[in-house]
Formats: sequence, structure tokens, C-alpha cells
Amino acid sequence: MTAAKPTRQVLRAHGRKSRKSSKQQAQELTDHILQEAEIKAAAAASVTQASLTEAELQAWQQDLERRLQTILQHPEQNLGHLEEELARSAKEPLRWLAQRAAQAKANATPCQCRQCPRELTGQKYLSRTVDSRFGSFVLWRRYGWCSECEQWQFPADHALGLGRQAPASPYLQEISALLVSKMPVEQAVGVAERLGLDLSRCFLHREAHRQGLKAQERRAQAVAELDRWEDLQKLSRSAEGPPVPPFTLVIEIDAWNIRERDFWGRTEELRRQGQELKRWHWVYLATVFRLEHRGQTQGQRAFITERGYVATRGGVDALSAQLHREAITRGLGQAQQVLVIADGAVWIWNLVQDRFGQARQQLDLYHADEHLWAVAHELYGRGTPEARAWVTPLLQKIRQDQTPSVIAALGELKPTLIESQQKKLQTEMDYFKNNAHRMKYKDLLAAREACAAGTATEEQRKLANQPLGSGAIESTCRQYQCRFKRTGQFWTTVGDEALLCLETFWRNGRWPELYPHAKSTAALN
Ligand SMILES: [Zn+2]
Repeated sequence: MTAAKPTRQVLRAHGRKSRKSSKQQAQELTDHILQEAEIKAAAAASVTQASLTEAELQAWQQDLERRLQTILQHPEQNLGHLEEELARSAKEPLRWLAQRAAQAKANATPCQCRQCPRELTGQKYLSRTVDSRFGSFVLWRRYGWCSECEQWQFPADHALGLGRQAPASPYLQEISALLVSKMPVEQAVGVAERLGLDLSRCFLHREAHRQGLKAQERRAQAVAELDRWEDLQKLSRSAEGPPVPPFTLVIEIDAWNIRERDFWGRTEELRRQGQELKRWHWVYLATVFRLEHRGQTQGQRAFITERGYVATRGGVDALSAQLHREAITRGLGQAQQVLVIADGAVWIWNLVQDRFGQARQQLDLYHADEHLWAVAHELYGRGTPEARAWVTPLLQKIRQDQTPSVIAALGELKPTLIESQQKKLQTEMDYFKNNAHRMKYKDLLAAREACAAGTATEEQRKLANQPLGSGAIESTCRQYQCRFKRTGQFWTTVGDEALLCLETFWRNGRWPELYPHAKSTAALN
């Protein structure tokens, strides 16, 4: 707070050589500071609009001309140099404008309680520093006491989108969140600098974390709507919209490992106590999309034009609630059919049973293949022709929905094996038994063949577009991992949930929910 800090001149004026008593000096110093603050506050309070004076405009013009002239004289300097210098020379005038505009808006903000709303009492002015896109400036704003809410309030801070304890303007809040959720802080500092922003490592780190917590709060509010009947009604109404043709909603679920350090500075102590420290934690991911939003490139590569994402390291229950909420947004209530595709993990199917009881469950075909290949490698060695010869007809059987006969074939094999192999075989047999009802691929593959041959019915054309595997979520996992699983990178539990949450807001195209000013420019996702 600038008001509380004596300026250099003030300190000089009250130097040690003064013959006055120290008590007297202190009093005079305080009076002086208060007086100076009053003058500044009064000046700030009179600002009603943002503009530059003639003299300022002229100074800017001259500075600009001088910079441009230098570049024009240098044959080796190009348009890039011009761009840099234009931006540099405009920064200071823009900072003045930002300060004056913010001040004018603060002055125009009624000094009323946000909740009540009643006029605040004991109103005074206090200054604060704001870090903006164009640099730092001082802002004065009124504050006052609400006797009903029993708290001091700064209505202008709220109107301007400023945090209580942090200097970042909304634009810098957003940029910190964006940069740090996309790259390590060390890199973000350099990138910010090239964008004309002088942001320290510490600033970026702290601000991004604060923004991540804000995003989590927002997400929690959305998830809490599932628990309130009125909210749920409102949700289903808002998702309804104009009538749409019947569609299939596809959900894919997966998980991956993240490296975290939960016990900063206590590692040795906890080890001595014999506690096992878990470094790796699961990050749970899901994606939701309408089948009609899935297409294929000419090279048969699948792409999805519109989809929702969920990511959390807060456990299966957190994933479950967040996924349910996302699925409602993406049309769960209107879908003719819900299709869940995943690997064989038991927790996934329990979640599906719990939240999407009516959904059709499908085991990822390629995971099923992998389990058969594992047996082949065990029996005949990795990459041998014998392994391939053994597995090929069984892979075909899976594609013909003949999983029971695959299980039978494995069962016949069992007595011929040694004990350790029998154990492994039994595990795979259990896998197929548990998932047999999720292994229906025949119609889908026939539909694809018919499409390729040009003989497909309307029904088959629709069916052919269904995915065989959970490739969509697996590629999503890889994308998240690019940021969150770098070599040597440790994360704290709180820190990485905050960043995961930000990244997911971005991917879901809901960035403007956190940063309303970003709406006009949002070409997101
Ligand atoms: Zn109040």
C-alpha cells in the first residue's frame, strides 16, 4: 500500500539531523504522509475518463518517430524490428490509459455492499498496485464497512476483476493460467517476455496456482448442481434446445500415472518412521462426444470435431461426478443410446454401472487383442511365426463375437502347460469371461466392410462410424502427459489438480467462463 510508505523526499525532509524530538518527528511524518495521500486520493477521485494530454501525445509521437527513423536507416532491420519498436513505444502511453480508465471505472463504481446492497459506512480511499498488460500502476479506490455483513469491502476491486491479495489484472491472471498450464514455468517466463510481458517465475507460479484454485471452485459448483433437484431440472432444460435427430453419445474412460511429491521436506523423517512414500498417482480421464461429431480423414484417421473432457487426480469418485456432469452438458438426457468404450479395468465398469446404468458397454478391441497376444508370446515366444499362427484364428473369433469359443480354446490348452503358465493363462481366461458381454464387434465390422464395398444400408452407414476401440481417450491421455509427465518433473497434489483443471476448461472451450474478457477472441480448442 503506497499510502503507508513514506516517499524518499519525505524521509529526507525528516532526516536524523533534525533537532526535534523523535516523537515529534514521527507525528509530523505521519501527518505529512496522510496529507500527501489525501492529495493523491483527491486527484485520483477526480478522474472521470481515460485520455492523454496534448503534451503526452506529442512526446509519444516524437519517441515513435525517433525509433522508426533508426530502423529505417538500418538496411538489416526488417518489419520485425518495426513491430517491436511500435509495441515498445506504445506501452507507456497505454499504461497511462489503462491506469486512468481503471481509475475512472473505480470512481464510477457505487460504494455499496455486494450482498445487501447497502451504502457502506466510514468510507475512505486506499491505494493498491495493479500489474497490467502494459505495466504496473497505482489505483485508488473507496472502501467501507457493511454493518450487516460485518466486513470491509472494496467494491471497485470487484468491478475491475481484481483479486484481494494479488496484483494481477484479469488479463495477466488469464495469461499466467494459460502459459503455466501449457508449459513449465521456467519456459513460460521466456515466452511471456517475447510477448512483451515482464513476468517473474514467482509471479507466474503463484498466479497460475491461484487461477487453478478458482477453476476448481467453478468446477465444483457445476458438479454440485447434480445434487440439487431444481438445478438438475434447469440443466436438463438448458441441454434440450431445439429437437435434434436421435444420436449416440460415446464415453471413453482411461487413467495414467503422474509423478508427485506430496511430502515436501519431510521425506527423510517419514522414511525413518517406516512409512512408504508413494510417488506415483493416478490421473483419471474421460472424454464425451456425439457419434455424429466423429469423422475420418482420407487416411482413415479418426477425428472428433466437438467433445468434452474430464481430468482429475482426485480419485474415481471425483471422476465419476465430473464425468456425469460433463455428459449432461453434452446431451446425456437427449441421447438415444449411450456407448461406453474402455479397457478391462474393473473400476471403470463399476463407475459405468453406477452412473450410466443404461449404457451399452464395449471393451476396447485392441486391448482384447493384446491379451491374446500375451498368451501367444508366453507359449511360443515374442515375435515368432508360431505365436502368430496360433493367435490369428483366435483374433478372428473375437471379431466374429465368438469369445466363448476363445475361452474354451484357452481352457483346452491349460492341462498341457506348466504351473506358472497355467496361472497366467487363468488370468487371461478370467479377463475374457468378465468382459465377454462387452465384446460385440461383428455387426460393426460387417457394416464397415459394406461401406467399403458400397453396399451399406442406411443403418450400416451409421453403425460403421462407431469406434472399435478407445483411441480417442488414449490420444487425450498422451496430450495431457506431454505437459504433466515430463522427465524429472515432480508435482504436488494440489498443484497438479489446479493445472489439470485449467487445462480442461481450455479444452472444453469454457475458458471465457473463467475469463469473460477472452470471449471476443476465443478461437479455442
Ligand atoms: Zn452487506
